[in-house]
Amino acid sequence: LFDFKIILGKNGVPVAENFRLEQSTISDTIQAGQVRVKTLYLSVDPYMRCRMNEDTGSDYLQPWQLSEVADGGGVGVVEESKHDNLAEGDFVTSFTWPWQTVAILDGNLLQKLVPQLVNGRLSYFLGAAGITGLTALLGVREKGHVAVGANQTMVVSGAAGACGSLAGQIGRLEGCSRVVGIAGTDEKCSILVQEMGFDAAINYKKGNVAEQLRELCPGGVDVYFDNVGGDISDTVISQMNQNSHIILCGQISQYNKDVPYPPPLPPDIEKIQKERNITRERFLVLNYMDKHEASVLQLCQWIQEGKLKVRETLVEGLANIGAAFQSMMSGGNIGKQIVSVSK
Ligand code: NAP
Repeated sequence: LFDFKIILGKNGVPVAENFRLEQSTISDTIQAGQVRVKTLYLSVDPYMRCRMNEDTGSDYLQPWQLSEVADGGGVGVVEESKHDNLAEGDFVTSFTWPWQTVAILDGNLLQKLVPQLVNGRLSYFLGAAGITGLTALLGVREKGHVAVGANQTMVVSGAAGACGSLAGQIGRLEGCSRVVGIAGTDEKCSILVQEMGFDAAINYKKGNVAEQLRELCPGGVDVYFDNVGGDISDTVISQMNQNSHIILCGQISQYNKDVPYPPPLPPDIEKIQKERNITRERFLVLNYMDKHEASVLQLCQWIQEGKLKVRETLVEGLANIGAAFQSMMSGGNIGKQIVSVSK
């Protein structure tokens, strides 16, 4: 058994060395209601950066404790069960899966998975058919005001990431006539256009984003799926139309800074937002639990029909989970960053 134990201080950029791998033993026996699971896949996500602060800045996130086992989204297989509804061989998931190769868990905290829904690609339950897919779909549906035939232009920042790559495709499926992505490398931009059906993509690390955006969105921006905040978002908001909508998904460019969430806009940008009546409401996927089941089925259907293209970046081995987290936070991933723990 290997555990990861976190040893980060309060601020700054997370690195692989914030995590420590340890070997320990778990009990041979399980109690009534428990299951022993083998971990197959673990998810690393931007929100985990907040869990590295003593004060996470959020009422729904608990800080990881120093030298305790970290946890997050995980998928695994039941190896032994003393829970009425779970049997050996069942595939299960949880938002609070411990970063261990093997674990004894309370069966009531696990959801059973149907592998056929994702053509056997179990890791999708941590991405396109899991929280990031739900975030993209419910973000667009709840906050995007996207309507078929309304000739809307959508811009997505963090566009080649787990949420962003799906959000742009879903924006199109739901009716946007033009979808433009913003991402950090030429390779990401070309995948967005060639593979994921975006009309265009801008590498924000090259050239003038404002100029490129003006060229690529001549009618202005109607819907902005914002994953990053900061300068990129200020530039996009400056080009948004009257009565347009920001889907405030995340603000990753601000996560290593000690600022409140959502970070306030600079005064000149806030003035534009108010004058143009641009909505910018907080969006949190966990506030829509009642819509998760139907939405997962919708995502799975699109995946099976080939309407939703899915990318993942897989890192092998629990020992590399800290590095995978660091890499994702600094743009090393295309699509969902996944850690494959065992086969
Ligand atoms: P992701 O986009 O797969 O990975 C993070 C990406 O952020 C990196 O690949 C990197 O891509 C980009 N990035 C990092 N630093 C940046 C910076 N300073 N400026 C611009 N881009 C930067 O992660 P994800 O899981 O899909 O999450 C995306 C966003 O959604 C995050 O803000 C996250 O907090 C948010 N989220 C919100 C909810 C919700 O309920 N509201 C749920 C899930 C996730 P580049 O190469 O393009 O820089």
